[in-house]
Amino acid sequence: MSEDTIFGKIIRREIPADIVYEDDLCLAFKDVNPQAPVHVLVIPKKPITKLADAESDDHALMGHLLLTVKRVAEQLELTNGYRVVINTGEDGGQTVYHLHLHILGGRAMGWPPG
Ligand code: 5GP
Repeated sequence: MSEDTIFGKIIRREIPADIVYEDDLCLAFKDVNPQAPVHVLVIPKKPITKLADAESDDHALMGHLLLTVKRVAEQLELTNGYRVVINTGEDGGQTVYHLHLHILGGRAMGWPPG
């Protein structure tokens, strides 16, 4: 159950995080192991395990998450661009099984990713 992940504990304020944005549906906070000068995670409060487990009922929430990425990127003044990443499942490199969108910025990103 993704309620039991570290991100569930952050939502419930059981462990600290550097929160940069919150609303009724989602939370954004700084990644504890940043891979770029700016590295923020946007997560739904609903415990969706991974992108592959999102359901059609979640379509409004999924759109809200993307628009929240845009809003947070503006708040963080990533005016020169940024990358949004969703790691999904084992081959996707997902390590925390609560859906999250990485916002990476503050430097030019390489392509392809590893
Ligand atoms: P994934 O590899 O699943 O796409 O990304 C999980 C991310 O969560 C990693 O970038 C990792 O650094 C971050 N992370 C793991 N545990 C914590 C934590 O306790 N607090 C914060 N802020 N980030 C975490």
